[in-house]
Amino acid sequence: MNMENARMNSETAGANAHLVSSATEHFDVLIVGAGISGIGCAHHLRRQLPGTSFVILDEQESFGGTWITHKYPGIRSDSDLHTFGYSFKPWVGPPIATAAEILSYMNEVIEENGLTPHIRYKHRILSARWSSEINLWTLEGEMADTGERATFTASFLWMCQGYYRHSAGYTPDWPGIKDFAGPVVHPQRWPDDLDLSGKRVIVIGSGATAATLIPNLANQCAHVTMLQRSPTYFRIGRNVIELAEELRRLQIDETLIHEIVRRKKLFEQYAFSKRCLAEPEQVKKELISQIVAVLGPNYDVATHFTPRYSPMQQRLAFVPDADMFLGIKSGKASVVTDEIERFTKQGILLKSGKTLEADIIVSATGFNLCVLGDIDFAIDGKPLHFSETVTYRGMMFTGIPNMVWVFGYFRASWTLRIDLVAEFVCRLLKHMKDKGATRVEVALRPEDRNMRLLSWIDPNIFNPGYLMRNMHLFPKRADKPEWQHSQDYWTEKDAIPAINLGDVPFVYS
Ligand SMILES: Cc1cc2nc3c(=O)[nH]c(=O)nc-3n(C[C@H](O)[C@H](O)[C@H](O)COP(=O)(O)OP(=O)(O)OC[C@H]3O[C@@H](n4cnc5c(N)ncnc54)[C@H](O)[C@@H]3O)c2cc1C
Repeated sequence: MNMENARMNSETAGANAHLVSSATEHFDVLIVGAGISGIGCAHHLRRQLPGTSFVILDEQESFGGTWITHKYPGIRSDSDLHTFGYSFKPWVGPPIATAAEILSYMNEVIEENGLTPHIRYKHRILSARWSSEINLWTLEGEMADTGERATFTASFLWMCQGYYRHSAGYTPDWPGIKDFAGPVVHPQRWPDDLDLSGKRVIVIGSGATAATLIPNLANQCAHVTMLQRSPTYFRIGRNVIELAEELRRLQIDETLIHEIVRRKKLFEQYAFSKRCLAEPEQVKKELISQIVAVLGPNYDVATHFTPRYSPMQQRLAFVPDADMFLGIKSGKASVVTDEIERFTKQGILLKSGKTLEADIIVSATGFNLCVLGDIDFAIDGKPLHFSETVTYRGMMFTGIPNMVWVFGYFRASWTLRIDLVAEFVCRLLKHMKDKGATRVEVALRPEDRNMRLLSWIDPNIFNPGYLMRNMHLFPKRADKPEWQHSQDYWTEKDAIPAINLGDVPFVYS
C-alpha cells in the first residue's frame, strides 16, 4: 500500500458517524475492481496524473476479475488480444489468448507500473455514500476472509467492477434439476476436482463459453453433447495473425507491431460490422458456409448452426482453428437443438420427447448481471436508484457526483473503451484541479428535459438474454449522442477525446 500517498483522515471519519471503523483512509481516487478495466485505468492515472493518491479495491484474492473467476477447461478470450489488450502494452502472443496468458500480461502491466502497492485484495465494498457537505465518497468494505470492516473516503470514485456478479453464474430454475443424480456445474464455479474421464457430459448453452468447453471437454470425457435451445453465430479463423508473424520475421519492434496489428484488426472489425448492418443475409451465408466447409454437406447445419437473428444482434463467438467443429466432426462431441422439459435422475428429458443421458451437466447459461457491484449506494442520505439516472456517454450519470463507470463494448473488445474512458477521467480530474473544483456532475440542459428516455442498450441492436433479464436496473439513455453509450467504438474514439469539459452538461463547484 502506498503509505506516502494515503493519508488518514480522521475529520472525515467523524463526519460519517455511521461508520464502524476507527480509522478511515483517504485517497484522491478510489478504483473498485482489479480486473482488466481497473488495472488499465490505474496505469493511465499513474502516468497522466502523477502524485494523485489512489487505491484499487477488489474482493478477490488477486487481479484479473473475469480471468481468475473463470477456471473451466480451455478458458480463453474470444476477442483478439491486440484489441482486447491495452493500447499501451504490446501483445506478443497468438491473438486468442488463454486466461493464464491474459493474467500474465496483466501482471506485467502491474509490475511495470508499480501498481502492486496500490491494490488491496479481499476487500468487498458493501456501501458507497456521497456527502455534498464534504464532497467526498465514503466506502465501507468488508475483508472477504476475516469479515473485518474497512472504511475509505475518496474524492473521486472510479467504478471498474464489470457487469456481472462474480459469486455465482446464472442457472435457470429447470424443473427437476435436483432429481439429477450427478453434478450440475456452472462454468463460473468450476470444481477443481471434477473428474471427467469416461463421463458423458451435457453442456447446456450455445455461446462462447459452450464453444470453448466443447472441444476441451471432448478430449477429456467419453462424450460431450452441446444442448442448445437455438443456434448462435460462430466465426472460424486461424489463431494466428500472419501480418504480425511477418513483421516479427522482419525484426520490427513489438510496440510498432502491436500498433499496426491493432489498427488492422480494428479496420477489419469496422468493415465487418458495417457489412453486418448493410448486408446481414450475405454475412449470415458466409458464416454458415465456413461451418459447412468443416462439417461437410451431410451435417444438419440448418438445424444446429443457422441462427434466427441477425449477425450483429449478439456477440459473435470466434472459434479458433475450428476446434469445436473438429470435435463434432470427430464424433467426440455432438449438438442437440431442442428444449428442456425437465431434468431426470439420468439426464434431461427434452420437449421433443427424446432423452439425453449424462453423468455431468454443465450449465453454460450465462451471467447474473449486476450493476455497480451490488454496492449499496446513497447520495446525501438518499438511496441511489441507478435506473433513475440518465447516462452521459455511458460514463457519468445525472445526480451522481464525482463518479465514472467503465462499461466497455459488447460487440468490439470491451477494453477498447478503457483507454478512452481513462483518458477522459484523467483530463476531467486535471480540469477540476485547474479550476479549483471539488465536485463535478452532469445535469440535463433545458433542451434535454423533454428527451425520450430509452433503455440502456437498444434491444434491436444487441439483445442477449443476460442483458434483457436485467435491463430495468440500468441507467437510461436518450437518442442524443451525448446521452448514451453508443456501443460504437468508431464514433466514440473521436467523440470522447473531443468532449469539451467546459460544456453545459458538466456542473462544477
Ligand atoms: C469467459 C469470458 C470470456 C470473455 N471474453 C471476452 C473477450 O474475449 N472479449 C471481450 O471484449 N470481452 C470478453 N468478456 C467480457 C469480459 O468480462 C470483459 O471484457 C472484461 O474482462 C471485463 O473486465 P472488467 O475489469 O471491466 O470487469 P471484471 O473482469 O468483471 O472485473 C471486475 C472486478 O471487480 C470486482 N468487484 C466487483 N464488485 C465488487 C465489490 N463490490 N467490491 C470489490 N470488488 C468488486 C470483481 O471481483 C472483479 O475482480 C468475457 C467474459 C467472460 C466471462
